[in-house]
Amino acid sequence: MAIKRAEGTKDLLASEALFWTKFRQIAFDLFARYGYSPIETPVFEKTELFVRGIGEATDVVTKEMFTVVSGGNLAKLIAGEHVRSDSRFSLRPEGTAGVVRAIAQNGLLQEGGAPVKVAYAGPMFRAERPQNGRQRQFNQVGIECLGADDPSIDAEGIVMLMRFFEAIGIPQDKMTLLVNTLGDAECRPAYRDALKGYILDHAGELCEDCQRRAETNPLRALDCKEEACTRVMSGAPRIGDFLCDSCKAHYAQVKSYLDAAGVAYVEDPTLVRGLDYYTRTVFEVQVSVGMDNNQNAIGGGGRYDKLMAEIGGNDTPGFGWALGYERCKIVLEALGTQMLEPEPPALYFACVDADQRALAFRLAQQCRDAGIACEFDHQGRSLKAQFKQADKLGCAQVAVLGPDEVAAGVVKLRDMATHEEREVPLEGFAENLSHVI
Ligand code: AMP
Repeated sequence: MAIKRAEGTKDLLASEALFWTKFRQIAFDLFARYGYSPIETPVFEKTELFVRGIGEATDVVTKEMFTVVSGGNLAKLIAGEHVRSDSRFSLRPEGTAGVVRAIAQNGLLQEGGAPVKVAYAGPMFRAERPQNGRQRQFNQVGIECLGADDPSIDAEGIVMLMRFFEAIGIPQDKMTLLVNTLGDAECRPAYRDALKGYILDHAGELCEDCQRRAETNPLRALDCKEEACTRVMSGAPRIGDFLCDSCKAHYAQVKSYLDAAGVAYVEDPTLVRGLDYYTRTVFEVQVSVGMDNNQNAIGGGGRYDKLMAEIGGNDTPGFGWALGYERCKIVLEALGTQMLEPEPPALYFACVDADQRALAFRLAQQCRDAGIACEFDHQGRSLKAQFKQADKLGCAQVAVLGPDEVAAGVVKLRDMATHEEREVPLEGFAENLSHVI
């Protein structure tokens, strides 16, 4: 049997690939208005970056990373030999850690300078169980802002994300913006301890993963999708009761900026998100169409004031989010949004016999140079078959070249819809054409 693509991956064919291009274009045009400019980082990084950045107890790091070794090291691993940890690489499961590394490594932050605002788009890789809206390779668009801890940065980023969703056609009333704060290094430890105590007290009622989380990552138990866990955790201590004054003030200001921008939100004290690096603001955008409840988040992010220091850079506050392209597409399809189709060529060059092919080839090139999309017969078809092909491609006009036309110094232009024909002089053809089509 022919080899198929790996499970959980997708081929983006014509209209979908076009939509992905358009999606990124809308994103980068919009983000530029907020001062975010594009950045591209490698799709693989040293595994260590993700372990330290995302957190070694997170699901992403423990269960979902695709980790690779280069050829020689693979042979060593198979032979049971040691491979140094800095020779292990992972396909990026998310964009933030790589971007933060790139900003540090390239010295983009200047002491006392303006925050660095960057945006990216590209594939991410997670070894999850594939299902609708959950792939092993998927595309994210994301932004990161490093070097400012002001709550206006958080609010501005959230507003920009909501504006993007609206710009691609997701109506406001189909989205819910959930917000929460996770506190910081000063107030979170006490909350973590309280949560740990609560989990241990209720261990018998919780799933095994949550029992383990008491030690490794108690906040994640708030996120568990098991029904029993959701019920038990709804009675757990709330972060709001543990926040220090500065975290309380930061959160209040984020909300007041959102109010000022007229962006509606719902406070969700159980929202923790999957990655360890978040401090203070976290948020998620959920949709009510196209996906079941476990996969209804189309984007989310938050503040990560300790991440840069965690991966070895200077202590620098950061904020960012990522959205999932495939999930947005599922939502748009469920809403009945018309997807983009490739534009058909405006013109098809048809030759009566092989003698005119070189001339047609030259004219086609002239047309393309002049910005006119055109097609040419590459298979030596009969004239009739060339017309059929032009019709199939959806070309509005066919340019016919035969011995008579060449002798008269013209090209016969046939409108495929009306069947009207007109002659266009060969001399300066592309220029003449731009006046008639
Ligand atoms: P995260 O990095 O987990 O916060 O994810 C940000 C966004 O990426 C989510 O809201 C989803 O829209 C999308 N996403 C995350 N994981 C997947 C996946 N496995 N397949 C498709 N989209 C995903």
